[in-house]
Amino acid sequence: MIVLVLNSGSSSLKVRLLDMPEGAPQEEPKPTRTLLSGVVKGIGGKSTLELSTEGEGASKKTQLVPDHSSAIRWVFEHLNALPQVEVVGHRVVHGGERFSQSVIIDEAVLAEIEALIELAPLHNPASLAGIRGARDVMGSTVPMVAVFDTAFHHSLPPSARTYALPHELASRHRIRRYGFHGIAHASLAAGYAAFTGSTLKADRLITLQLGNGCSVTAIAGGKSIETSMGFTPLEGLVMGTRSGDLDPSIVSYLSEREKVEAIEVERWLNEQSGLLGVSGRTNDMRELEAAAQAHDERAAFAIELFCYRARKYMGAYLAVLGSADAIVFGGGIGENSPTIRARICAGMEWCGLRLDAERNKAAVRLPPGGAARISQDGATVAAYVVADDEETWIARETVRCVRLKDAV
Ligand code: ADP
Repeated sequence: MIVLVLNSGSSSLKVRLLDMPEGAPQEEPKPTRTLLSGVVKGIGGKSTLELSTEGEGASKKTQLVPDHSSAIRWVFEHLNALPQVEVVGHRVVHGGERFSQSVIIDEAVLAEIEALIELAPLHNPASLAGIRGARDVMGSTVPMVAVFDTAFHHSLPPSARTYALPHELASRHRIRRYGFHGIAHASLAAGYAAFTGSTLKADRLITLQLGNGCSVTAIAGGKSIETSMGFTPLEGLVMGTRSGDLDPSIVSYLSEREKVEAIEVERWLNEQSGLLGVSGRTNDMRELEAAAQAHDERAAFAIELFCYRARKYMGAYLAVLGSADAIVFGGGIGENSPTIRARICAGMEWCGLRLDAERNKAAVRLPPGGAARISQDGATVAAYVVADDEETWIARETVRCVRLKDAV
């Protein structure tokens, strides 16, 4: 089955074309070939397309791309010689209370994703643009599947998903902790399972997805039972440009003092805070590590705050899970920075988490889907790095959904 995966961000589009095996719904589909992978960046203006196709290798091109439909068309110009797409899998950020699993997209599903823009104004419009763009280009006969970032967290128990707000007010406005990055956390757990041979049934995991956006999830028996992002992806860890946790009174206080609307303060919390805000320099961890080496104190402190918050959450999740079998690192920082991993785990020997310095140093730039153990032999809480592969996860979900429909 030829599956096209589209992962649409506000100004970007990641594309993967995979050949997936046919099989029964319960069988785990694994891609047999990657026919194409690429990314369009800068949608809405002068954009670049980085593409790598089977046989032809990598290429990079630039042109004006006004919207997601044009971006998809541009990618499709390179698909001519490739096999026909049989199904499309889309990443959709917010599935609200309704979508606990991936679904085949029909008019009703589209309307619900659209209605969820109210809850996810920064994210769902891009997902919708990707779906509409693909329909413009491919027509409505090719089946399409929505794979939601919130779905993995549907298993959060009431005490993990509820804010202590007046009940009636919270339910009228659908305010609860939804959790995000679900595709990433599910694929980190799947990568750990594939590497260790675990079925996940008896395992307690803490998965740390550390990229530009950062989140941590406690997983018991393969299910998310606690996660750091909440009503929006702003809650939790210190991120590239997001503050993560803070006292909500700061919003009205700053709004009054700076004479701006609350929504403007929220924009500062989303776009100008985190590593960028604290360092006053950049949200890029590589640059911060280099600056800290060169004795930039604010850069060094931003890194310290980042690691401290992650360790604090790890401690909390050890309590939630009653210890853990493994900690799993993923995302650009989690996959590639041994220093940050070591600093997050520093002083955690009390719970049995002991990194092996050599293994930790060696576990960088793993191939997509690759994994490595970075803890010492015999550590009671093991640690792993998994190069999570969201596009492959979306493809698997897409195939699973189509097989289930065909089996009905
Ligand atoms: P996104 O959340 O946008 O997908 P990524 O997962 O690509 O982001 O992560 C981007 C972050 O990973 C940036 O802060 C980048 O500096 C960091 N990163 C990538 N490679 C390294 C590295 N070798 N050392 C430290 N940080 C790295």
